[in-house]
Amino acid sequence: MKKGLLIVVSGPSGCGKGTVLGGIVKELGLSYSVSATTRAMREGEADGVNYHYMTNEQFEKLIDEDKVLEYTSYCGNYYGTLKDEVESRRNQGQDVLLEIEVIGAANVKRICPDAVLIFIAPPSVGELERRLRKRGTESDEVIAERVSQAEREIRCAEQYDYVVINGELEKAVDDVTSIIKAERISADNKQEKIREVLNS
Ligand code: 5GP
Repeated sequence: MKKGLLIVVSGPSGCGKGTVLGGIVKELGLSYSVSATTRAMREGEADGVNYHYMTNEQFEKLIDEDKVLEYTSYCGNYYGTLKDEVESRRNQGQDVLLEIEVIGAANVKRICPDAVLIFIAPPSVGELERRLRKRGTESDEVIAERVSQAEREIRCAEQYDYVVINGELEKAVDDVTSIIKAERISADNKQEKIREVLNS
């Protein structure tokens, strides 16, 4: 059985990452890895769907038991990828998608060099700020903090295999879809294909 891909997607808050990935997960039949977190559940979220929500003690127990592939502390909370969500599914041939921040992505690439890293960026920092303001959910102070955090994250985009600009949603969806389809073809066993052609 051919091992599934490990696709890692990052992007700053407000870049539209969730919207870009929304349809792709279903259309390409990706297996979305549900992370563990100690942050509080937001309205509209569900345990086991958006995250596995837990206490600090529960999270630290998972680390001690070596059940976490990578984890980081972000805005005062733990976030981590569970090994259970990744390896067995990849071994069954499923392509697994992680939606994680930049430090986690760098750690995944170190642990799994075959991971495909995609960074989704806004067309400009000014546009990101405009989108965050339009949401109207945060104060000026929080928006300023989000914007400088976004600038720090965008500087890390260099370490990614692909950078996709989300200016027009349709174009960004097309780009991410093309990347995943091309990676699927590239991961197919070349020698096996050549043998099949020659032996047929
Ligand atoms: P939020 O609280 O908005 O859901 O997520 C905050 C940040 O944590 C986002 O950038 C999200 O991609 C990232 N994140 C979510 N799950 C994980 C994880 O398992 N590991 C790491 N390193 N980051 C994560």
